[in-house]
Amino acid sequence: MKPFTCTAQSPRVVFGAGSLARLGEEIDRLEIRRAIVLCTPGQRALGERVAALLGARAAGVFAGAVMHVPQEVVHEARAAARSLGADGAVAVGGGSTTGLGKAIALESGLPIVAIPTTYAGSEMTPIHGITEGGVKKTGRDAKVLPRTVLYDPELTLGVPPNLSLTSGINAIAHAAEGLYSADGNPVMDLVAQEGIAALARSLPAIMADPRDIEARSQALYGAWLCGTVLGNVGMALHHKLCHTLGGSFNLPHAETHTIVLPHALAYNAPAAPEAMARIARALGTADAAQGAYDLAAANGAPVALRDIGLREEDLDGACELALRNQYPNPRPLEAEGLRELLRNAYEGRRPRGS
Ligand code: NAD
Repeated sequence: MKPFTCTAQSPRVVFGAGSLARLGEEIDRLEIRRAIVLCTPGQRALGERVAALLGARAAGVFAGAVMHVPQEVVHEARAAARSLGADGAVAVGGGSTTGLGKAIALESGLPIVAIPTTYAGSEMTPIHGITEGGVKKTGRDAKVLPRTVLYDPELTLGVPPNLSLTSGINAIAHAAEGLYSADGNPVMDLVAQEGIAALARSLPAIMADPRDIEARSQALYGAWLCGTVLGNVGMALHHKLCHTLGGSFNLPHAETHTIVLPHALAYNAPAAPEAMARIARALGTADAAQGAYDLAAANGAPVALRDIGLREEDLDGACELALRNQYPNPRPLEAEGLRELLRNAYEGRRPRGS
């Protein structure tokens, strides 16, 4: 057996349909008296609902969260938290809103309660990111890890099916890379397999009926597990590629993950056969890369980078950027293989089985 080190860290998790009603007691538990509620402009109504639930414990709503946490928005949100005298933040929404909460906590150490409404998984990680001048700088800091995470599947019933699918495959990507992580461990392997399996079961059910509360619960459960893996072990080629593509070519986050995952798995397959067998088993397929591709394609997700805004002339630049920094990955980074990977993802080809 491979030697390992394991220091699992996790927020307190409150899970279940209707658990939003428990927000007040969770806020009291953390001794927060004046919480700033964070959300995107599109989720303002939900932010207001959360503030109403908190009553006098809500200091105000900041409905300015946007994708990739721009520095200007961070300044505004930090100033709002200060002027409202906030002693805690409730972030209700997807990874962008959680990210804004983390940016506030990074400076002030304010405790965060996260109420995720997508499957991105940021709520389970100490990873923060702020975008300045078009470059997203990320780092790890224990103080940005939310203190409490409240998972209420009822809040996900209205997530549009296409966003549910790509967000769910984004979550699967965390667990898949966790299974071949350089600093993986047997506990996170189990969490990853269960997370992938829960999402692989529930995503097609959500596409068939987006208001299926059992499927929504299974998907959020899977997202929790996959986020836990992301927070506890290092990622590899797939996440680096998506970070590069998203940051440099302004591609949408969850769709980029959905398209790249099968090809990153195909690239790494020869060097990580055991991880691939586990991923395939969890997906319920014979081959990990093909299973990830089929989950996306069969349910109508985009499968080609050219369909989400990448231009053919950007492929060489993307490859160069991906090769610029070496990092742990099961298969060494080789220009020829990466070029083929990006070309296949650009065209949307189904990977050949390993
Ligand atoms: P997002 O938070 O940008 O949300 C996408 C859109 O969906 C937003 O407009 C939002 O208002 C809307 N939305 C969210 N929940 C909804 C709901 N229930 N119903 C209807 N609409 C809803 O996207 P995301 O995919 O959740 O997060 C992506 C971001 O999170 C990226 O910037 C990524 O880098 C970051 N992220 C960070 C970590 C980390 O550990 N730091 C982990 C995962 C993702």
